[in-house]
Amino acid sequence: MSKPTLGNPRQTIEVLQKYQFIFQKKFGQNFLIDTHVLDKIIRAARITEEDMVLEIGPGIGTMTQYLAGAARRVVAVEIDKNLIPILSDTLNGYDNVRIINEDILKLDLEELVMEENGGRPVKVVANLPYYITTPIIMGLFENHVPVESITVMVQKEVAERMQTGPGSKNYGALSLAVQYYASPYIVANVPPNCFMPRPRVGSAVIRLTRHGEPPVKVTDEKLLFDIIRAAFNQRRKTLVNGLNNSDRLKLPREAISEAVERLGKGAGVRGEALTLAEFAKLSNDIAEYMK
Ligand code: SAM
Repeated sequence: MSKPTLGNPRQTIEVLQKYQFIFQKKFGQNFLIDTHVLDKIIRAARITEEDMVLEIGPGIGTMTQYLAGAARRVVAVEIDKNLIPILSDTLNGYDNVRIINEDILKLDLEELVMEENGGRPVKVVANLPYYITTPIIMGLFENHVPVESITVMVQKEVAERMQTGPGSKNYGALSLAVQYYASPYIVANVPPNCFMPRPRVGSAVIRLTRHGEPPVKVTDEKLLFDIIRAAFNQRRKTLVNGLNNSDRLKLPREAISEAVERLGKGAGVRGEALTLAEFAKLSNDIAEYMK
């Protein structure tokens, strides 16, 4: 297996100049140029020689080289067609890598995992394009793609939102959705100077380890997420008003008030004060009422 030839500013600039590559802002292109960060991501992802890794957005193939050295198989999905000839060059010599030129949000990942890994769970590792962080992560969870863990670079504030609980200003629908499916762990904060070009925001690497079973039992998952969304849509309103104003939940106000009161947190409680277990109880109570 070849040793990585990328991971510092000089090597990245050489590749970019050789191909006269022009960064596309619309694709969220900020390439990693720090070997310490790359090593940290690979370690955090706990990749073994048995693993298939799905990489989203390989860029010029920097992290792909590191992944290829650790995993059995790497499948990397890149939207920008201008990067494909570059990837053929930088990944020449890595025979366990497949590049797919496609939009990750349009690809049938369940089928891909079936084809490449016999349907067994894969590890997702990526320095994500920040403009679609949430749809990518939620898509992987909600569409039942067999995924064991997701280790990704995201905007620092988004990583904090995923990991936090009630009482924090960052707590919201994303925290609850992520924690329903996985246990989050922030591995490292990464400053802008580790990327080319430098992003305007701080970044963080977060690992989401998928639960075998969700930590709470709900009779209707869709209802749970409709309630969570409604609760945080109007953050400053009480939970009762938030749920009452929702277009998705067409429930009588008394039913909402009664279910909220049964939580024992007072009629004026706000969504941001509820744990995932309390949202699950609320959802199961409302589901019972709707029968
Ligand atoms: N992995 C590389 C690195 O760390 O240097 C590049 C990371 S860069 C933040 C994000 C990459 O995702 C870019 O290469 C970009 O072209 C690609 N990308 C953006 N939107 C995408 C999409 N919808 N599907 C697949 N790749 C996408």
